[in-house]
Amino acid sequence: MLPQRAQALKAAGLARVTVSLDALDDATFQRMNDVGFPVARVLDGVAAAQAAGLAPIKINMVVQRGVNDAQIIPMAEYFRGTGHILRFIEYMDVGVTNGWRLEDVVPSAEVIRRINEIFPVEPVAAAYPGEVAERWRYRDGAGEIGVISSVTHAFCGDCTRVRLSTEGALYTCLFAQRGHDLRALLRQGSGDEEIAEAIRGVWLARDDRYSEIRGAQTAALKKIEMSYIGG
Ligand code: SF4
Repeated sequence: MLPQRAQALKAAGLARVTVSLDALDDATFQRMNDVGFPVARVLDGVAAAQAAGLAPIKINMVVQRGVNDAQIIPMAEYFRGTGHILRFIEYMDVGVTNGWRLEDVVPSAEVIRRINEIFPVEPVAAAYPGEVAERWRYRDGAGEIGVISSVTHAFCGDCTRVRLSTEGALYTCLFAQRGHDLRALLRQGSGDEEIAEAIRGVWLARDDRYSEIRGAQTAALKKIEMSYIGG
């Protein structure tokens, strides 16, 4: 990316980058991403984003017990002192194809405890109301990490996220079973205000709180896959 473009994004407050990297161990990462994507190419992308001046760069690691939890400390060690913010995300039951089980979740409290034993950390106040990640920083000044506790501490009450599928359907929850069609409005020539009004109506009518009620009553729901609407 051209440096001027990065500067323009920075000026607009849009120069943030979020990258998914679940392990530094190549075999583990390739097994988890299902498409054999290598760690080296992710790290190359992170380096390119940094060289272009994009910041902060957030590295998202979904932690799954027995699959990549042994990578918690290596990942913390690797990204300490880089200025990048490593965020540990509790493994979620998004979609229906990942075979999710509660026992595979590594609670954020355990992640923090394990890191704190090696690299002492302390909590940091949220940057803004409703911030999804709980922030921590290394006591030796080597930077910040975050934990996203979508299973053990649901935050549906503060949720402000909508997702738009490539087919123009608006999803008001990561676990929604259906979206709201915006494409039809565009196709029939609706203007910005009309579309904004439609989005407002959808948002005001939503009552999503999947993570708060996760359990027997949600187990059988046919949910949308994250690959379809984004994380
Ligand atoms: S479960 Fe749905 S409403 Fe709750 S935090 Fe996640 S996306 Fe938001």
